[in-house]
Amino acid sequence: MEHSQQVEQDASYCNWHPTVETRLSCSQCGKRMCTQCLVQAPVGIRCRECGRAEKMPTFDVQPSYYARAVGVGIAVAIGGGLLWALFNLFLGGIPFISSFAALAMGYGAGELISVSVNRKRSKGLAWIAGASVVIAYVISVPADSASWNPFGLILVGLAVYMAVARVK
Ligand SMILES: [Zn+2]
Ligand SMILES: [Zn+2]
Repeated sequence: MEHSQQVEQDASYCNWHPTVETRLSCSQCGKRMCTQCLVQAPVGIRCRECGRAEKMPTFDVQPSYYARAVGVGIAVAIGGGLLWALFNLFLGGIPFISSFAALAMGYGAGELISVSVNRKRSKGLAWIAGASVVIAYVISVPADSASWNPFGLILVGLAVYMAVARVK
């Protein structure tokens, strides 16, 4: 026995395939659709048009978002760089602690920029996040010449990766 809600609906034809009979309809616009046309959305099944419209905004990053991301990126680069420098000045001699600072920097930069653009993602945002970590590192370096070693550079690479991964 079928679900009562579905039994009440008469079988009709798919909006895109006039020869295919179907009982399914889109939860957004109500158009009839066959199994080839349905798209699984978080809120139910949708037709191909409504399913596609749902996915677009994530990648549609408006210029105002970039302006905000650049602003946050600069603040992160300068503020984070100074914090990082202070950190190196007082605690930089301890290897594990200084790697923690680099990773926290990468995580923080990615997180702050991601939040500022409502969790949108794009290649441009990835560049902003990566650049903010690199600038913060350059600002922090004069306080700790020891971080100009290969291990320090690997950590910075890792920090950039962490920041980029949150917005790409
Ligand atoms: Zn629809
Ligand atoms: Zn169809």
